Amino acid sequence: MMPRIFKADLHIHTCLSPCAELNMGPKTIVQQALQQGLDVIGISDHNSSENVSAVMRAAQDRNLKVLPGMEVTTKEEVHILAVFDSADRALQLQEIVYEHLPGENDPEAFGLQVVVNEDHDVLGFNKRLLAGATELSVEQVVDSICSLDGLAIAAHVDRETFGILGQLGFIPEELHLDGLELSRHTSREEAKRRFPEYARYAFLRSSDAHSATDIGKVWTSLLLVEPSMQEIRKALRGEDGRRVVPEDVNPNVFRLQERVSMGLRPAQGDENYRCCRPRERLALSLPKGLGPGQSRKSWTPAFAGLAGVS
Ligand SMILES: [Zn+2]
Ligand SMILES: [Zn+2]
Repeated sequence: MMPRIFKADLHIHTCLSPCAELNMGPKTIVQQALQQGLDVIGISDHNSSENVSAVMRAAQDRNLKVLPGMEVTTKEEVHILAVFDSADRALQLQEIVYEHLPGENDPEAFGLQVVVNEDHDVLGFNKRLLAGATELSVEQVVDSICSLDGLAIAAHVDRETFGILGQLGFIPEELHLDGLELSRHTSREEAKRRFPEYARYAFLRSSDAHSATDIGKVWTSLLLVEPSMQEIRKALRGEDGRRVVPEDVNPNVFRLQERVSMGLRPAQGDENYRCCRPRERLALSLPKGLGPGQSRKSWTPAFAGLAGVS
């Protein structure tokens, strides 16, 4: 099979993350990702993977690949993104993380940490301090991810807070990172100019969405045979014709050309994926039993002081 372009947003939080909106339930995420024309998403809550299976189930029979993962906070307060092929692997990392994650969540101060099923029913509230740092070093976290055969990506390296460059000042030579993630504020071209010493790494961009409207705001176009973690690994290494596609290439043009060449009509989502849909047209739903119309910010006024956490 010939590689084709897949649109990936590998950094999306659910309502399990204390700083995410409560309406970030599995179906809302899947629906919004499809509306944005994404092919692959990664679920990466802070220090936990308890909602990944629910999102994977919500995407069953939909044209969307969900890769389970986590955003681990190291003891140096560096955010490392883990991406796996199976929920089992993500849960194995979670075991390691939980063994080294001290503290208990204060929902008043940090926000609720809601565990849900695929229908957004509340199964419970995670009591751990997911907003906190683990006792694991950057090396330990990256090695743990590698030993579980996952992708280890340094999150939002262009950000001062919680980015590896902002926290450590450099990337250790021997660290086995698979790529560097950029926030929506920095293009890959800018990053290559700004960080020439790290040109050996693949740069990818993700939304780091904490609310539904942010999903797919930025993404990475990848030339893959199929939307799997192993194919993404090859693309990040530039192996076997797989690669990260430059940002000035519109993936929808590729998709359209490919479909036309196959004698198919343009697919839904091929057109005008950049448009912003009005908020009221999105299927916003709160977890059942949590009260109507309240975002996490209104639940927890103290959040304002923590706005830098993402
Ligand atoms: Zn994040
Ligand atoms: Zn982060």
